[in-house]
Amino acid sequence: MINRERLLERFLKYVSVDTTAREGAETYPSSPGQLVLGRMLRDELLALGLTDAVQTEHGIVLATLPSNSDKPVRVVALNAHVDTSPETTGAGVRPQVVRKYAGGDLVLPGNPQAVIRVADNPELKALVGCTLITTDGTTLLGSDDKSGVAVIMETAAYLQEHPDVAHGPLRICFTCDEEIGHGVDHVDLNVLGAKVCYTLDGKGADEIDVETFSADLAVVTFRGVNIHPSIAKGRMVNTLRVAGEFIHRLPHDTLSPETTEGRQGFLHPYQLSGGVAEVQMRIILRDFDTARLAQLAELLRSTAVECQRSFPGASIAVEVTPQYRNMADGLTAEPRAVRFAQLAIERLGRKPQLTIIRGGTDGSRFTELGLPTPNLSTGEHNPHSPLEWTCLEEMIQAVEMLVQLAQVWAEEPVAQ
Ligand SMILES: [Zn+2]
Repeated sequence: MINRERLLERFLKYVSVDTTAREGAETYPSSPGQLVLGRMLRDELLALGLTDAVQTEHGIVLATLPSNSDKPVRVVALNAHVDTSPETTGAGVRPQVVRKYAGGDLVLPGNPQAVIRVADNPELKALVGCTLITTDGTTLLGSDDKSGVAVIMETAAYLQEHPDVAHGPLRICFTCDEEIGHGVDHVDLNVLGAKVCYTLDGKGADEIDVETFSADLAVVTFRGVNIHPSIAKGRMVNTLRVAGEFIHRLPHDTLSPETTEGRQGFLHPYQLSGGVAEVQMRIILRDFDTARLAQLAELLRSTAVECQRSFPGASIAVEVTPQYRNMADGLTAEPRAVRFAQLAIERLGRKPQLTIIRGGTDGSRFTELGLPTPNLSTGEHNPHSPLEWTCLEEMIQAVEMLVQLAQVWAEEPVAQ
């Protein structure tokens, strides 16, 4: 049996530390609270008997739960991030614990306008009788990703208390600044030393995220000619007009975030800056099929050529840089990463679901760097919002799943 009250206590303790990531900060991690929580986690890991627990100079917490198997077993890493999204403040979180949820909408006590509605959260229907944790409606909760942190900590505690459960070496890794795209920047994969990794940063229960978008960023620079408007006839080339024409020529009814879902990719112009002489436009390119990114980039380039024809005297430069890659590309290197996760859930008598994310995770970056890393459910709902909530039973299910997963890997002999 998983110690549910202790798991809840852990979660409530971790969300009380403000770890909001700060975009544009000059330090790493971007906010001091991440170091405070990291220290707390290191100390708790040491107290659990994980004697090598450390917090690195970049705030990353690493620890090993040593193997208790007599055979050599593959090293498996478990990862969660300690920071929370800058989209909603994570300072002064006042969690509301709803025991034996009776069904219906949940009004948050600190803000009567903030209501978690069943209509928007149909998954609530299956959770009647469960323990739910919400905010008071004025901050986020931080379940993304402190649910993952609490689940990993409770898994370590459970395995320490149950030496009869066979497992190989588990490497615990808590990262910083995932929410602002820097979760993996200071993780040394050689120091981590794992052959496979799981991020605990997924929604609900029993889902395994096996695909993310592949992502590129295009910066389009328009250059023209500025001159006083009084003498501009035949001489001025206004790049604001060129940029407007460029956007107009891009597809609107397809290939945009506003018109796509599921596996469909898109081009998304999201930022424009500049004036008459020069304008810079930033566009993100997204598709599950990595090869399609080149086609999207080609579409930008051909649109630039057409546009230039309408505005002789203007120049348009399209520069594309890679951001991250669909984790499915790299997961093929270690098919057991997903297969064993499915098996662990099945052994618990539950139904695993393979899911895709229209975005990226630290796992996409880890996978791309050669460490196959699917993402697992950990009870997150409505991340980044004051309407964020989590379910204690789903967190318990995540702990049960990790305990099972450790055993599945322990049964697999390491190839010499
Ligand atoms: Zn997250």
